[in-house]
Amino acid sequence: MDIAAELLAGSRLALSRAITAVENEYDNAVDIMRKIYPQTGRAFVIGITGPPGAGKSTLTDKLAKEYRHMGKTVGIIAVDPTSPFTGGAILGDRIRMNELSVDEGVFIRSMATRGGLGGLSLKTAETIKLMDAFGKDVIIIETVGVGQSEVDIVKAADSTLVVLIPGMGDDIQAIKAGILEIGDLFVINKADLDGTDRLNIEIEAMLDFNSQQAGWRPPVRRVVAVQNQGINELIASIEEHKTYLEDSGTLTMRRAQRIESEVLAMINTEIGRYVQRKLKDTGKFKRMISDIQLRKHDPYSVVNEVVRSVLR
Ligand code: GDP
Repeated sequence: MDIAAELLAGSRLALSRAITAVENEYDNAVDIMRKIYPQTGRAFVIGITGPPGAGKSTLTDKLAKEYRHMGKTVGIIAVDPTSPFTGGAILGDRIRMNELSVDEGVFIRSMATRGGLGGLSLKTAETIKLMDAFGKDVIIIETVGVGQSEVDIVKAADSTLVVLIPGMGDDIQAIKAGILEIGDLFVINKADLDGTDRLNIEIEAMLDFNSQQAGWRPPVRRVVAVQNQGINELIASIEEHKTYLEDSGTLTMRRAQRIESEVLAMINTEIGRYVQRKLKDTGKFKRMISDIQLRKHDPYSVVNEVVRSVLR
């Protein structure tokens, strides 16, 4: 089976297998990615992040349904950097399984750590490309929480939604670092609850204080995801952001930066693997380590020497 060709021809099974290949770093993964790459760059990628229980899964579900009404196809990637689960149903998948997964226009995939955390954001980025090449118009990445790994993951998005809920009180201060800076849009979900006005004021005040992006003031949108309230307005804001990104050249710039960091990361990985193989093959490595441990050498000089000999 030529997975890449079948994926490009619209086979959901091939898409599923391709993601599995990327996730597990199978030998054919690079070949698949190489073949599908020319067909990428068309989907619009939305990142959704926020504290657990904020209603991200519910919101993802409603957004996906609304995009479907608009005639767009949707890919959903639910990422859980805290979970060692192997595929299957994590996050809000159980909620979505019923209606969305029977819709041929929606493709849902969960991703978890599986040991090496570092690779997860890279694998998520590859999964986005696979869904993009498959032809999904909109791809939603949803994370479980608000940690640093979530921040890294949503960096692959064109538009990032930070979902907050009323009654968090001073908690907004606690999650300020990192996650708030990446918000292109702020969503107050559960706007049916008390404290919505207060939270709205707090977010606006924070935005006044550190307005990161010249030219774009992140809007704050109130929604009641469970009741499907405010979803259309939220999509309108996302569309506005998309237009802004395109017209200002920000989209091109951000995507260029993303390609740059991906290529650098891939080069680092490849060179790292090459060097490690070389070192371990010669058996020199163990001696180096014990020499360092015995303080015969220091690690700085050893590293310098290794790099030098590899580059020679
Ligand atoms: P996640 O952990 O951020 O993905 O949150 P979920 O989507 O699983 O939602 C957590 C809980 O909040 C669920 O019980 C939802 O039914 C509930 N919920 C989601 N949206 C709303 C809302 O707009 N209002 C209220 N009152 N509850 C909501």
